[in-house]
Amino acid sequence: MSKLIELVDIVTNFYTYEGSVKALNRVSLTIEHGSSFGLVGESGCGKSVTARSMMRIVQEPGRIESGNVLLYLDEHDEKKMIDLMQQSEAYMVDLRGNKISMIFQEPNAALNPIMSVGEQVAESFLFHQKQELCKKVLDDLNSPNCKTIYPLKKLLQSVYRAAEKNPDSFGLKLMSKIPVLKWWRRRMKREALKHSVEIIAKLGIPNPDEVVKLYPHNLSGGMKQRIVIAIALACNPVLLIADEATSNLDVTIQAQILELLRELKQKEISSVLLITHDLGVVAETCDRVGVMYAGNLCEVADVKDLFSHPRHPYTRALLGSVPKLSQEGELQSIEGNVPNLVTPPPGCRFHPRCPYRKGICSVELPELRKVGKNHQAACHVLPE
Ligand code: SF4
Repeated sequence: MSKLIELVDIVTNFYTYEGSVKALNRVSLTIEHGSSFGLVGESGCGKSVTARSMMRIVQEPGRIESGNVLLYLDEHDEKKMIDLMQQSEAYMVDLRGNKISMIFQEPNAALNPIMSVGEQVAESFLFHQKQELCKKVLDDLNSPNCKTIYPLKKLLQSVYRAAEKNPDSFGLKLMSKIPVLKWWRRRMKREALKHSVEIIAKLGIPNPDEVVKLYPHNLSGGMKQRIVIAIALACNPVLLIADEATSNLDVTIQAQILELLRELKQKEISSVLLITHDLGVVAETCDRVGVMYAGNLCEVADVKDLFSHPRHPYTRALLGSVPKLSQEGELQSIEGNVPNLVTPPPGCRFHPRCPYRKGICSVELPELRKVGKNHQAACHVLPE
């Protein structure tokens, strides 16, 4: 499989009154076209900060200090690639919600309570796909069934042709601000709403024509999360990032949303990055998995390989702490506490809790290295 996005040595810090929190410590990972990558680890280990650094939406007092985020534009040609860290903010605004979309844990915070569901899905399309919408409106105006009277039709055709060429031109922006001239956008909105109905129908929501007219307070938690997914999918992203997207849902709805994400990955989107602390969700949904601890990526492998042959001591301890039906006696736990990232331990950040540590572990940060086919781990010792 070819690369879709690659993080190289990302360092992100948060500058607080307590001191600088070293949230990401040279994190490198690759997500391939057509894959679903799970990022797991305890709360506060840097999973969400990794996704936010990838999208360049780390908020104050956080700052991405260094590293590269390489986005591969052509799956058949690795040379066609851009570094998102070098792009302007305008480029990133266009990219977010368009090529890369993100869904969060709390759908209530993501939805606007005073806009209908259809308008919210359509908004994303109106923002990112203006030219596509203009093309659809022009097709409609040019069709023999169009009932618009001749002079108005001519006028609309010329406005939409201009908008198709340059939707952000000063003249059109000015027209959109003046109330009596705003009418030209009405057809675009109508097209965008049609598109919302199509997307909502694709997600298997019954009566999409009626659902688009509802407001968030009319919907259940699972339905709201589906609408958030619909918004994220409005522009056919190549990567969908789901940040603990099912954590707040009950188990049956969680299973439905995960099934939906699996289906969408096969049909609609190229790749998924699933951020979760639930190893079961990763085992069921992902092809590859990365394990994070205290701002470091410890191990990356194919899901089956990681669950059957974990190599990093932290991954082993994490898997050992998951209850099993066959297990007798007490559950294993990891001794000690997660380190304070203002003053993280030197060398391997897991060394104060690691039963396999050696002298070098407290001195040198282990690099991710190949330990098997498609399997990497960052450990000086790598116990058998
Ligand atoms: Fe343990 Fe050392 Fe490996 Fe870190 S590098 S996980 S301390 S053995």
